[in-house]
Amino acid sequence: RDQSYQFMLRLKVPCGEVPGALYRELDELSNKYGQGDLRATTRQAFQLHGVLKGNLKTVIATIANVGSNTYGGCGDINRNVMTPAVCFPNNPAYVAAQEYSKALADLFKPMTEAFNEIWLDGEKAATVEYWQKDIAKFELDKVRTHDNGHGIITGHPVEPIYGRTYLPKKFKMAITVPGDNSVDLYINDVGAVVIMNPDGKTVKGFNVVVGGGMGRTHRKEETFARAADHLGFVKEEDFFECMKAIIAVQRDHGNREVRSNARLKYLVHTLGVAGFRDLVEKYMGKKMEPWVPLPEWKYLDWMGWHEQGDGKLMLGINVECGRVSDTPQLRLKSCLRALVDNYGVDLLLTPSQSIVLRNIQPAQKFDVEAVLREHGVKLIDEVDAITRKSIACPAFPLCGLAMTEAERVQPQINARLLAKLREMGMANDDFVTRTTGCPNGCARPYMAEIAFVGSGPNVYQLWLGGSPNQAERTGVATSIFKMPLTELEATVEPIFAMWRAQRNAPDEALGDFCHRVGVPAVEAFMEAYTPG
Ligand code: SF4
Repeated sequence: RDQSYQFMLRLKVPCGEVPGALYRELDELSNKYGQGDLRATTRQAFQLHGVLKGNLKTVIATIANVGSNTYGGCGDINRNVMTPAVCFPNNPAYVAAQEYSKALADLFKPMTEAFNEIWLDGEKAATVEYWQKDIAKFELDKVRTHDNGHGIITGHPVEPIYGRTYLPKKFKMAITVPGDNSVDLYINDVGAVVIMNPDGKTVKGFNVVVGGGMGRTHRKEETFARAADHLGFVKEEDFFECMKAIIAVQRDHGNREVRSNARLKYLVHTLGVAGFRDLVEKYMGKKMEPWVPLPEWKYLDWMGWHEQGDGKLMLGINVECGRVSDTPQLRLKSCLRALVDNYGVDLLLTPSQSIVLRNIQPAQKFDVEAVLREHGVKLIDEVDAITRKSIACPAFPLCGLAMTEAERVQPQINARLLAKLREMGMANDDFVTRTTGCPNGCARPYMAEIAFVGSGPNVYQLWLGGSPNQAERTGVATSIFKMPLTELEATVEPIFAMWRAQRNAPDEALGDFCHRVGVPAVEAFMEAYTPG
């Protein structure tokens, strides 16, 4: 009965790096064993949908043998580590963000051989993972087993950090540089910001945030979305021990009784960030230092053309809802394959489900643009700002938890929001909007300026007030719990009208406006609003 079951496979690709050779293999695998497309996730990974049970071993082994892997994509362990989707070899802070992301991915990978035993018949994969070559200098085997005497090492011979029972729930990390919040830093269990020494060349240490997370359940107040708190600064030489301490605190003190309250954010919420810091310092055996002041965060998506800093170019292209497929109008999947095969490009997956093409020779710039046009792929200045800033989870028909549509309605939602703005004389306005098929929040809706969170068939809970740069706060649930999609325009028109009339500056963002006046005031305006 093998043919009755199909699976989704999610890769672990730290920093979103997908070399051309890996893309070529995934393209082939998705055609041969999947449903013919790929999906770029909101955590910089690719997913293959529709892999039949009988083909799992072939697909997993093929991915492992091309230098990638699927372990760490799921499970109660550290997931894909996010980093800005750029590679500037001449920018030491960005280089450090990438190197440390890969180091954390390696440090917190499961060490068991079970994966190889099950999927590779006990053999090692033919190659080491392609990104591991960049982190040899960290000597992570020593870091992993270093016992500082504060209870981090469990004595478990196989998993010196996770121990026998792994973590209470999934664990998410991101690393970025000051100012670049392309990674949605505050939604992670742990986030780190690279702080450079005054020479600008060497790493001084890291600001660390803890306790972010999106997942919640409708009408269960004990579950909630949470933006991470500032934990403090840690010197570079103490960084790995600090990360181990945070993981170990969650391992030992996270809620293992109630799964819906098992994420680190609930532990941080319960202890308070000061209490949580005390525990981390005890495990680490050192005090943390005060948070280093940072410049304002920016929403950066790295779309369009940029110089890489090594003489080559990179090009960010928008992938609506992350779906890499071929349709009569848009042959994105074939386009990427042509660029990989004929121009030697590599891919970086962005935290917003889009793709940055890397290593383009300047002389090939116009040829690459021509290939994109031939396949119906738009350059970023041809993509409207609402679409550019929107993301959606897969939901129906791919997710068993979905209550309604997300990916398949996001293009329609974007077009209708844009049309409404234009009709109201607000064509130059835009905002971050996100849609999910359930409150689990995989597309980070609670950080959006306006979000639609599935609450039943074709109905959505409306959230307002996230910041335009996803910094330091979540949005707030309105009392509109079951907005039929057919009433989208009628719902948003009064919100847009109030924003237009009462914003305190022409550039006050929708999310900042809703946050300043408060959701109750917005709802009172909506109640009293007369269209036209
Ligand atoms: Fe995640 Fe829910 Fe969307 Fe499924 S429907 S992908 S669980 S947000």
